[in-house]
Amino acid sequence: LRRLRERLARSGSPLGTRLLGVLSRDHLTEDDWDELEETLLLADVGAGPTDELIAALRTRVRVDGLRDGEQARAVLREQLLALVDPSLDRSLATTPTTGEDGTRVPAVVLVVGVNGTGKTTTVGKLARVLVADGSSVVLGAADTFRAAAADQLQTWGSRVGVPTVRSDRDGADPAAVAFDAVRTGVADGADVVLVDTAGRLQNKAGLMDELGKITRVITRTAPLSEVLLVLDATTGQNGLNQARVFGEVAGVTGIVLTKLDGTAKGGIVVAVQRELGVPVKLIGLGEGPDDLAPFDPEAFVDGLLQ
Ligand code: GDP
Repeated sequence: LRRLRERLARSGSPLGTRLLGVLSRDHLTEDDWDELEETLLLADVGAGPTDELIAALRTRVRVDGLRDGEQARAVLREQLLALVDPSLDRSLATTPTTGEDGTRVPAVVLVVGVNGTGKTTTVGKLARVLVADGSSVVLGAADTFRAAAADQLQTWGSRVGVPTVRSDRDGADPAAVAFDAVRTGVADGADVVLVDTAGRLQNKAGLMDELGKITRVITRTAPLSEVLLVLDATTGQNGLNQARVFGEVAGVTGIVLTKLDGTAKGGIVVAVQRELGVPVKLIGLGEGPDDLAPFDPEAFVDGLLQ
C-alpha cells in the first residue's frame, strides 16, 4: 500500500484515469481487482462504497464483458454517479420566512467545523454568492475564540458589502454574538444571516455545549435553516472523524468540502456523504472570492474521468 501511495503521489494522475487504466485491460485478474480496490481506498472513497463499486463492476464485467475503453468509461461513469447519488437535494435553504406577527424572519445558516478547514472563507464566499443573487445578508462572527477570526470575517463583509456583527472583545460568549447577529438580521429585514463559529474539537462535551447554546439562542428568534459542516478535503480519514463528531453534536444539514483544488482524492465526497447521511452541497476550489461552487454530481464524476 505504501508503495502504491508513493506511486500515486508521484504520478498525480486523477482517480478516474487510474481506474480506467485498470478497467481497460483485456482480462481482469484478481490482482487487477485488488489494484482497483486499493486505488479507491487511497482516494478516500471509504471501505463500504469501495466494496459496492467493486461488486457492481465485477457483475457488469461478468454479465456484459467490457468490450473497449469507451464502454469501460461509460460503466465506470454510471457506477461512480450512483455512489455520489444524484438524487439528493443539494439546494440551500436561504429563503426568509414570515413570523406569526407578520415580521420578516431571515434564514439563518450556521457554519461549523474545525478551525483551519475554511469556515470563515466559506462564509465570505457564500455571502458573495447570495448578494450576487439579490439577497441581503448579515454576517455573525461567533468564532470569538480565535482573535483574528472576527477581523477576517469583517474584511470579507466589507469586501462583499454586508454588515458584520461581532463582539469588541476576545473570548466573548459566541451565543451572544449569534443572537445579536440574528436580531440585527431581523431589524434590517435581511434575507439571510450567516453565522461563523469556532471549531474546537479537543473536548466533545464543550463543543456540544457551545453549539447547543448557539442553536438555542438563534431559534428563539428565527428557525435554523441550515447547519453547514465545513470539511477540508485534503485531510482524508481525519476529516471523516471530524465529520462524525460534528454529525453527532450539530444536526448537520449539508457539507461544504473545501480545498478540492489541493487534492486528487475526490473520493472523500462519497465517504463523507455516507458517513453523515447528508449531501455535499458546496465545494471550495481556491482561496478567492469566486472559488465556491454548488456541488454538481455529474460535473464532479466527469471531472474525475477526464
Ligand atoms: P477557519 O479557521 O475554518 O475559519 O478557516 P479559514 O477560512 O481561515 O481558512 C483557512 C485557510 O484555508 C485560509 O488560508 C484559506 O484561504 C484557505 N482556504 C479556505 N478554503 C479554501 C479552498 O477551497 N481552497 C484552498 N486552496 N484554500 C482554502
